[in-house]
Amino acid sequence: MPLTPEQSSEFAPGDLVWDTAACRAGEVMDHRWSRYQLRPLGGGTEWYARGEDLVSHAGPGPQCGECRHIRTSYHNARRAGDTEGAARWITEMGVHLRAAHA
Ligand SMILES: [Zn+2]
Repeated sequence: MPLTPEQSSEFAPGDLVWDTAACRAGEVMDHRWSRYQLRPLGGGTEWYARGEDLVSHAGPGPQCGECRHIRTSYHNARRAGDTEGAARWITEMGVHLRAAHA
């Protein structure tokens, strides 16, 4: 993905994020015009979010042992094809981020 100064994005396609405005977890599909296109992990209708509303373990910011545990569990679930498990972990991530790193 080409990056210009105006488009320098905090999140890249494939990143998992928690949309604090929508209270939903999603996977970044695209980023343009300062908005992110997100896809629900379990499939469904994509939606758009503002960058300032998104948080992610993959992005910059504080991380702790719980962050790493959730992230590892998520990736394990994805690798195993466990979409429900992956969605559950990213929800856990959102809850944890708000509780521990907000
Ligand atoms: Zn943490």
